[in-house]
Amino acid sequence: CGIVGYIGFRDAYPIVIKGLHRLEYRGYDSAGIALANDGLKLFKKAGKVSDLEAHVEGHDLGGSVGMGHTRWATHGAPSDRNSHPHTSGDSKLTIIHNGIIENYATLKEALLSKGHEFKSDTDTEVLIHLIEEIKDVTGLGLREAVRLALNRVVGAYAIVIMSDDEPDELIAARKGSPMVIGVGKGEYFIASDATPIVEYTKNVIYLNDNEIAYVRRDDLLIKHIDNTIQTPYIQELELKLEM
Ligand code: GLU
Repeated sequence: CGIVGYIGFRDAYPIVIKGLHRLEYRGYDSAGIALANDGLKLFKKAGKVSDLEAHVEGHDLGGSVGMGHTRWATHGAPSDRNSHPHTSGDSKLTIIHNGIIENYATLKEALLSKGHEFKSDTDTEVLIHLIEEIKDVTGLGLREAVRLALNRVVGAYAIVIMSDDEPDELIAARKGSPMVIGVGKGEYFIASDATPIVEYTKNVIYLNDNEIAYVRRDDLLIKHIDNTIQTPYIQELELKLEM
């Protein structure tokens, strides 16, 4: 339902949580967050963003790369374990997702037969396992594995992916679900709409359908899922922040 991501030089946690609060107006049943902080740290909880905040209390919430999600359940009941982020088997790859993977059942069957074990009832978890499978089988890097996986997905999605092996990168993609990238100086913001971004930067890129953004602190590469490099169009937000 709602997505926020941050990569830069500030602490990601407060930016992501504030962004999730800004997206609460959309409605949701669960919330979760991932931080790259000496390994991926994941926290997720059914309920409100404030329940997630209570849940993380006392934990080390450092890290300048992170992402958060508010879920509106479509596949799998609202629960802690069905909340996003979802991870692959070894928990080194993690994803947040808005939308529906329509062919998840077929993909899941194939992945189960290859020995994948699932920890949730969501369509979303299938996609992160598919990415891991493609990565393992082909030996390709994460960027290519994500691109190939998205070519096999039927449905609508806005996703952000983090990896323990690539802690200085966020990978975002969309098809049929909105995704905005805020461009800062040495930092980028990602969100499902501009409301979490406006207070930090007015310069935004609206990702188009079938585009993948590979986002580093000082570098942004956008590709079509057919592998052609896209020229990003940076536009200025006119949105006024209403408090
Ligand atoms: N289909 C996913 C789920 O049920 C994502 C739903 C959403 O957009 O929040 O977990």
